[in-house]
Amino acid sequence: MFEKLYSPVEKLKIAAFDNLFVKRDDLIDPYISGNKWRKLKYILAKAKAENKNHLVTFGGAYSNHLVATAAAASRSGLKSTAFVRGEKVKNEMLLLCELFGMQLIFTDRVSYKDKSALFEQHFKTDSNACFIDEGGASAEAVIGCSEIIDELTDVYDHIFCAAGTGTTAAGLLKGIVKNDLKTKLHVVPVLKNGFFIKDEISKYISDTENLILHTNYHFGGYAKTTPELFKFIKEFTAHTGLLIDPVYTSKMFYAINDLIQSKTIKPDEKILAIHTGGLLGIFGMMDKF
Ligand SMILES: *Cc1c(COP(=O)(O)O)cnc(C)c1O
Repeated sequence: MFEKLYSPVEKLKIAAFDNLFVKRDDLIDPYISGNKWRKLKYILAKAKAENKNHLVTFGGAYSNHLVATAAAASRSGLKSTAFVRGEKVKNEMLLLCELFGMQLIFTDRVSYKDKSALFEQHFKTDSNACFIDEGGASAEAVIGCSEIIDELTDVYDHIFCAAGTGTTAAGLLKGIVKNDLKTKLHVVPVLKNGFFIKDEISKYISDTENLILHTNYHFGGYAKTTPELFKFIKEFTAHTGLLIDPVYTSKMFYAINDLIQSKTIKPDEKILAIHTGGLLGIFGMMDKF
């Protein structure tokens, strides 16, 4: 399932800026969306190599990673289980997880914090169980994400991505360094106090010279939004025909738009935005539009 991949680079025009391109990782798959496909590629390869047929992972009730893991597991003939943070709920995302055959274990917020303990407690005796961290954060995921850079046929002055754990950003930076590019990597943390993302990235790649963090586009924190952000999503989508999600990609495109408007990025500089997918997140915020 990880052989064929469709992720073209398309030109996009916003704020009269003519040098913006988008890597359409959102088109890779509707359920194993964007960077989650990239991240799972080598995680699943490792699980298979170790003869583990049961993926065990962690996430919130609106996690794109859980849907992606459930879909990838079922398509690869593997079992999947997720520890879901918080009290038992029903929603569109968890419904998809269950349809893909994932077993859900709702876990109170205190217990959820110690993921290794949860794994030990439930799966100590299951030698087929494979521990996958929240969001798929791992060295394998970094390698998968670095392949985004390998696929590029043009050179860009700036590459942008949104960051939750920073794994995708680490992969992109690794790809930039590996391919000896001068491209700046602009990372937009979607959480408050996103400075920690730099430390996360440094765990996987020591050369952070090309890294620029934009920590002021979080809109209040993870999964937090403002009316201004929704206004931006509506205008952006109506104008470009490209859907963006409220948790990740809208904050990245807002930042790009802002840096273009303020001329921080010059009109002759070429930008590539990585569309990391996650569009199902729109449905979790239906009442806010
Ligand atoms: C999970 C996710 C991210 C965050 O990726 P990290 O590697 O955790 O930083 C970004 N965008 C979308 C759409 C996601 O679903």
